[in-house]
Amino acid sequence: MKIAHHHFSIILLVLLLTLQCKPLYFDERYKTIPVDEIPHRSQMSINPSDVLEPNQHWEDLELQSGDNLGKLLIPLVPDTASLNGLMQAISNQVDLRRMQTGQKFHLLFADDILKELQIIKEKEIICFTLEDTGWQSLVKIRELNTLIRFARGDVDSSLYNAAVDANIPLPVLMEMIQLFSFEVDFQRDIYNGDYFQVAYEDILDEHGNSVDTGRVIFAYLFSNGATVKHELYRYKDFQGNWDYYNSLGHTIRRELLKTPVNGAYISSGYGMRVSPFLGYSKMHQGMDFAAPQGTPIYAAGGGTITTAGWSNVYGWYIKIRHVNHYETLYGHMVSFRSGLRRGSRVEQGQIIGYVGSTGMSTGPHCHYEVHYYGEPINPSTVRFPPGKILQGEELELFQLHRESLISSFL
Ligand SMILES: [Zn+2]
Repeated sequence: MKIAHHHFSIILLVLLLTLQCKPLYFDERYKTIPVDEIPHRSQMSINPSDVLEPNQHWEDLELQSGDNLGKLLIPLVPDTASLNGLMQAISNQVDLRRMQTGQKFHLLFADDILKELQIIKEKEIICFTLEDTGWQSLVKIRELNTLIRFARGDVDSSLYNAAVDANIPLPVLMEMIQLFSFEVDFQRDIYNGDYFQVAYEDILDEHGNSVDTGRVIFAYLFSNGATVKHELYRYKDFQGNWDYYNSLGHTIRRELLKTPVNGAYISSGYGMRVSPFLGYSKMHQGMDFAAPQGTPIYAAGGGTITTAGWSNVYGWYIKIRHVNHYETLYGHMVSFRSGLRRGSRVEQGQIIGYVGSTGMSTGPHCHYEVHYYGEPINPSTVRFPPGKILQGEELELFQLHRESLISSFL
C-alpha cells in the first residue's frame, strides 16, 4: 500500500466574544459564539488582549517549591518603599502563606521596571498596577476563550504518531479513540493510509496561551485502508444533554443489551446463593437466563472476543471486551457461532453462540456476567447513558448544525 504523506493543515479560528452571545454548541464552561458565526476558513492570529507600548513586555513567573514571593520581587522592584507598598496591596487581597507552588503570575514591565503584577487564579485575575498614587489592585473575572482547532492526522505508523505529527493534544486523541471505539476496533481496523479529521476546543487564556483542551466538536475517521468512513458530531438535544451522534442523528454510544437471550427467564440472579454443586453459599457473579438448548445468544454490545474456549466451570464460553472497560461473559454454551474466535469483532445483537448446559450447569441456560475494570458487577443494575435517535425538529436542527460544521471546516 502506498503511503500518502500530507502536510497537516491546522486552521485556527479565534472565536471572539460578544456579550449577548448564547453558546449553542460548545462547552458551557467557556464563553464562545454560535458555530454559524465562526469566520469561515480564515487565518487569524491570536493577540493578547492587552495593547503594548514599544517599551513594554510581559513575562510569566511560576512559584517554585521554597520560593518566597517577596524575595522574588526584590530585584524587580528595587525601590523598597514601592516593594513594601506592593506587598501590602497583595496581602490585602490574598493570603501569602497559602500561596502554592505552581502559582502563576504575569508581570508587565515598562523599561524593565515592574508596572503590573497579575496573580492568576482559576476564575479570576488579581491585578496590581503601579499608579502615580502607588499600587492599586483590581480583581478581573477571567475570560477564557475557546479556539476551535481543526487538524488532520495521517496514519503511516500509528494513530498516536499521526496525532503527534498533527500537533493534536493527547487528551483529544484519547477522547476521539474512545468515541469511535463503539464502531471501530482500533487493534484491527487501522491501516497505513487511513486518516482522521478532528475539530476540537482549545482553551486559551487572556494572552492566547493554551491552558486546557476542551471537547471534540466533530471527527471523521477513514479506517480499513481508508475505505470505511466513520463520523461523529457533538450536539445538545432539547433536554440539554450533550452527546455524540453519527450523520443520521443516532447516538454513537450504545448501552449493553439487557438480556443476551431472547425469550429466556432469569433462573438465578446476581448475588449470594447456595451453589448446587458445592452445597454452600457462594457469590453468583452473574445472571442465569434459562432457555431451551440451541437458543441463540446475542452479543450484549459491540466489541472484540477475548476468549472463546472451554472452562470446567463455564463450559464453552465467550468473553467480549467492550469500550469503557466493560467486558461480558456468556457461559455453558452448546456451541459457538461458526467462525468466531479470539480476536473476532462482534456487533451488538450479533449471534455469538447457542444455549447449552456445558461445564458446571444443572440445565440449559446462559450464565451472563458483566465486568467493569475486571471486576464482576450486577448486570441488572448497569447504568449506561441510554442511546437516542434524533427525530423531527431535533433532527432538523442537528442536520443544520452538522452542515454548518462541514462548511466551516471541510
Ligand atoms: Zn450462573
